[in-house]
Amino acid sequence: MKLKTFIRLLILIAVIVGIYMIYNSSFFEGRPPTVEAYLFPNKNEHVKMPAQAYWNPDKNIEIHAGDESGIKNYKITAVTSDNVVVLDKDLEIVLGKPKEITFSLPKPEIKLPDGTKIHYKIAVTDWSNANFFSGNTTIKELDLTVDTQAPLVNIIANSYKISYGGSALLIFRVIDNSIQSIKVSNGENDFKVFPFVEEGVYAVILAWPVQNNFFNGTITVLDKAFNQKRVSIPLIKDMSVRYKYSNIKVKDNFLNGKLNELIDTVGERNPNDFKNNIEKFKYINETIRTSDEATIFKAATEVDYNKIYQPVDFVAFLPLKGSVVVGNFGDHRSYFLGKQKISKSLHLGLDIASTRNAPIIATNPGKVVLTDLLGVYGNTTIIYHGFGIASLYSHMSKFDLKLGEEVSAGTIIGLTGQTGWAFGDHLHLGILVQGYAVRDVEWMDPKWIKANITDVFMKAKNIIKAQSD
Ligand SMILES: [Zn+2]
Repeated sequence: MKLKTFIRLLILIAVIVGIYMIYNSSFFEGRPPTVEAYLFPNKNEHVKMPAQAYWNPDKNIEIHAGDESGIKNYKITAVTSDNVVVLDKDLEIVLGKPKEITFSLPKPEIKLPDGTKIHYKIAVTDWSNANFFSGNTTIKELDLTVDTQAPLVNIIANSYKISYGGSALLIFRVIDNSIQSIKVSNGENDFKVFPFVEEGVYAVILAWPVQNNFFNGTITVLDKAFNQKRVSIPLIKDMSVRYKYSNIKVKDNFLNGKLNELIDTVGERNPNDFKNNIEKFKYINETIRTSDEATIFKAATEVDYNKIYQPVDFVAFLPLKGSVVVGNFGDHRSYFLGKQKISKSLHLGLDIASTRNAPIIATNPGKVVLTDLLGVYGNTTIIYHGFGIASLYSHMSKFDLKLGEEVSAGTIIGLTGQTGWAFGDHLHLGILVQGYAVRDVEWMDPKWIKANITDVFMKAKNIIKAQSD
């Protein structure tokens, strides 16, 4: 081999090795640094910032950068949409060779009015020798709109009071240009709000379930810059309502008759599979009752919200003509076998009876959201009426309505009966506020409905109209 050919071969090998090194060594590593921005709305939370966001400069933004060859420097510039430079000088920090860095985004050095748009550019460069030894640079851009104002919440109208176990209506306005969420709570349960009459106004009917020992109503509004406003709901709390505690002796003919029938109807387990009658009793009274109540809750809370609602002219729920009360709402029932307490339940409706197989009438219009045979409740229909209010009819002998059907006032829902856990022909009427059972007597009383619901709706509507004129 001639010397020239040998040298050519050597050069070729050197070039191949060189290319190989450039592609594979971190010396010429081509991957730019990763750069992420996180907002810390409070001590326990952090959220990844999108490229465009609302920002209260009181809240910290952290920049997290990482690179396998190490970070050489970062540079930050910030300019408003009116070309005002809000960081006195371009910040340039030169570093050793950390693989990861975290730093707070510098805040504007001047106070900027709400609505100002700031364009941040964060350039992070690594120690790689790629790009003619200048390294790889990632530029993270953030468009932030200054928002330091917490939302304003103005109560427009509300029921005068809420009773233990009862309901109340509340209408309020929220003023903020970046609403993120509105949460209404009774201290234990959350309630969805309904857009009412015009944008920014909301109506909610609240419940104080018998299961809750206290009522602590609050509205919490959060905006997109994580400014939060919480206000108390100005409702007088009426604790004077009392509920019954009754002890019920479980009879042998129930244990050997109806109980087995109920287990058969549910169809999940064989009556012979239970160790004893107590287990059977607890299965129906606790397991199946809980599952029925979950089915009811789900059906009564599946509502669409994609419109602005007008007041609803609720009238008294009086489904049975000439009826008498045979079982109270909120009755705390304890069941005894001999002297032993074997189970308990809470009666979440009102039992009323008239004649056998009496027609049950819808007195308020609505839409059927459930028609089904339930284990404890028997043949059950639920009608949704608006603003979270639904009515439930149980133990029926016959269904007259289908799922999804629109119901007008005066329509027959079905006939009374004794399907499910019922002794004697009667109707179990439940009034549900966003799935929570409330005192039927309020919703069966025209005076209560006028004072606490329909007059409050009208008062609010008039105030809103006067405000926008
Ligand atoms: Zn009942």
